[in-house]
Amino acid sequence: MELCQICNNANGSTFALGKCHICDGKVMETAKMVEKAVQLIPKDAVSFSISTTIPKDWQIREEKIWDIQTKKAESIKNILNRTVVAAVKKTTALRYASDGDCRLVFDYGTGQVSIQKNDLFIFGRYKKISSGLSQSRWKCSQCEGKGCGQCAGKGKYYESVEERIGEPIKTATEAREYVMHASGREDVDATNSAGRAFVVEVKEPNKRRMNLEEITKEIGKTGEVEVVDLKVVDRGFVEIVTESHFDKSYQADVEFGRELTGEDGKKIESLIGKTLLQQTPTRVAHRRANLVRHRKIKTIEITNIRKNYATIIVKAEAGTYIKELISGDNGRTKPSIAELLGTSAVCKKLEVTKIEDEFLDFILKGDKRDG
Ligand SMILES: [Zn+2]
Ligand SMILES: [Zn+2]
Repeated sequence: MELCQICNNANGSTFALGKCHICDGKVMETAKMVEKAVQLIPKDAVSFSISTTIPKDWQIREEKIWDIQTKKAESIKNILNRTVVAAVKKTTALRYASDGDCRLVFDYGTGQVSIQKNDLFIFGRYKKISSGLSQSRWKCSQCEGKGCGQCAGKGKYYESVEERIGEPIKTATEAREYVMHASGREDVDATNSAGRAFVVEVKEPNKRRMNLEEITKEIGKTGEVEVVDLKVVDRGFVEIVTESHFDKSYQADVEFGRELTGEDGKKIESLIGKTLLQQTPTRVAHRRANLVRHRKIKTIEITNIRKNYATIIVKAEAGTYIKELISGDNGRTKPSIAELLGTSAVCKKLEVTKIEDEFLDFILKGDKRDG
């Protein structure tokens, strides 16, 4: 039995060199394949990863050889991976990274090479200046986005924060698609001056180096959404951002069923440190599981009382339903401001004013990636 040089090296150089029993000489084409592959790498890539596929029958023949020869053997796939990485590094000066800018795919069955543009992840915090935007794209369920009578031909119910942020990024990166992942969300009619953490997943970008300052400006132009702290991060940040829960502060303008007195302020402050029982609000019951959540009020105060209007400033645990803390949602949230005051209370305007997510900055500092 004869093997090619690479396959023989993998098997302790036990065999004669010749027409390869394992690969039929195909692995000896590696240098040529690398030459082709490096031509496909986008100009602004600084790192790469690779994948190799080898035919199943090579593996079967390889394993049979392991049965008959006693020297230390290594799988051809391992050797190829190592050889390819070393060769690409040498010819391009790119850095190898398992989640690199692009993935070079070596198919030894066909002898073909191809390239996959790896997704790009951009972290940031957004401020929602105007109410009336949904956080993620919300397609019209009637026409699935094509445009119909129900959605006035727009194909969607609301404009979204996701589009305001994602479209300029898509343009700058010449990407195919994008998805925004955020740490919680505010209601369509609420605003957010705090800055909510998100990661935009950019699919198949053609450009990976971009001017984040310019993108920040571009997003801010609409006056509806602003972003700060843009930074290229690893894929792992999606989970960090979406799985994190932070205390938040809110400012709510509230209309009451009667004029307020000084006594009412004290009653409201009695909520400090209390844990609310919040049954899933009626308004979201159609898309959330019906259960009772326990959420703690950290601080609460009432200011700017003017007859039957006032401003409530509250800091609460992540996931607290603030509108229901105010209204009581027909007894589904207990205790509530309406219940304590014995009158109706309706949130007219809601703004997220602070999100206690400094934890993310610690992690960002540890992330060595540039960009
Ligand atoms: Zn071979
Ligand atoms: Zn429609």
